[in-house]
Amino acid sequence: MIEPLVFEISRPGRCAASLPKLDVPPAELPDGLTRDDLPLPEVSEIDLVRHYLRLSQTNFAIDKGFYPLGSCTMKYNPKINEDVARLPGFAHVHPYQDEETVQGALALMYGLQLFLADIGGFAAVSLQPAAGAHGELTGVLMMRAYHLDRGESQRDIILVPDSAHGTNPATTSMSGLTVVEAPSDSRGNVDLAALKAVCADYRGRLVGMMLTNPNTLGLFDEHVEEIVALVHDEGGLMYGDGANMNALLGVARPGDLGFDVLHYNLHKTFSTPHGGGGPGSGPVGVGERLVDFLPAPVVGVDSERSSDEALFFTFETPPKSIGRVKAFHGHFGVMVRAYAYIRMLGSDGLRRVAEYAVLNANYLKHRVAGVYPVPYDRPCMHEFVCQGRLEGAPDVHALDIAKRLIDYGFHPPTNYFPLIVPEALMIEPTETESRETLDAFADALLAIAEEARNEPDLLHGAPHSAPLRRLDEVRAARSLILRWEPPEQPAEG
Ligand SMILES: *Cc1c(COP(=O)(O)O)cnc(C)c1O
Repeated sequence: MIEPLVFEISRPGRCAASLPKLDVPPAELPDGLTRDDLPLPEVSEIDLVRHYLRLSQTNFAIDKGFYPLGSCTMKYNPKINEDVARLPGFAHVHPYQDEETVQGALALMYGLQLFLADIGGFAAVSLQPAAGAHGELTGVLMMRAYHLDRGESQRDIILVPDSAHGTNPATTSMSGLTVVEAPSDSRGNVDLAALKAVCADYRGRLVGMMLTNPNTLGLFDEHVEEIVALVHDEGGLMYGDGANMNALLGVARPGDLGFDVLHYNLHKTFSTPHGGGGPGSGPVGVGERLVDFLPAPVVGVDSERSSDEALFFTFETPPKSIGRVKAFHGHFGVMVRAYAYIRMLGSDGLRRVAEYAVLNANYLKHRVAGVYPVPYDRPCMHEFVCQGRLEGAPDVHALDIAKRLIDYGFHPPTNYFPLIVPEALMIEPTETESRETLDAFADALLAIAEEARNEPDLLHGAPHSAPLRRLDEVRAARSLILRWEPPEQPAEG
């Protein structure tokens, strides 16, 4: 049972705050700004505090428990970076200030551009895009601009593997280009023979290919260099989805593998917590061929105004820029956290992030693989995909297992994605979880598998301990209730 809402406990005349007596003349508000018929709740201070605290505890949160979501997982978000982003010098700058007065902020952006370029193996970076999907759109628009600049306007196809993140085909369509799907092989790689055939079918029309690597199976493509060479031979460009750089940090650089453009999710891998709709940040890194097409402005050094003591930073527009993709300069507070995160960890620390992310995922996979089938069973990167399809429990589905995990105190992993794995459970433990937490989660999954065989209805009815029981997801999507309505019988005064 969910606790009563603040409207239901309202009683006429109760008040959570009292204001001092007015000591200035009252001002009239313009007509239409005030309404007497607005039913505002009337509650005491303590009831109000309890209402909001109760709501905050009704949600599952990464600060409350293990949250192995898969792909869109929130990774390490050091709390100190929340303080850093709120330092007045960062929090109070305004985008309309003169460049001379915000040299510190520009130096930070310039430094972050260099760090990200170095981490990804790229020539230049723009910090403008507001999220991962927005970085993808920016990248695809740059790829298209590159071909148009060379007079190749007939190029209209982007190849996207069937194991790609859903945003890849979505951004391609949004940019007006056509998606052609590339199938996976039995080891979870892009099927090379099929890719060659697709390339031959669309000869001369390829804008490029978008590759999520590691892909949504958590697997690093074993033929990535051949894929890049194939696409380049066709005159196409290679887009890398770098949302989950925690798998590669300090170990492999997409630019070195031949990728021409890649987006980073600062709100996943580089410290900013996400959820609740933002803000995020999805910078793009590019190789030499796309540097001139970066969205404007990027931060550069004005050599004429620089001295031996200090560089002078300024906003610049690349010569063939696709233009602006975001108001002002992107989400600066997210950049501050990413900069602090990279400086704090250093190159050794960043490499350890990748090592632990991969170790933790492989450890967890190893602990559950005998019971939960793993369809492409080879060493994984930062996440793995197993199946909620258990021997001796034919009526139990991935959804039942996911819901039952809530009773054990864990957030369910992503389920039914990627689409190429039936009954998929996609698990990303992240780099920061302890061996004890990983073991507790594995033990829960194994205990649930036992329950599935002996007491399947326990799973079908789960969750049993959550503030709300299992939702009718079809009805929830079809008959949305988006507004609180007063109860039919108002409470007695
Ligand atoms: C999260 C994610 C995205 C999209 O990022 P948003 O910031 O949510 O737009 C793209 N690709 C992959 C692989 C992701 O995990």
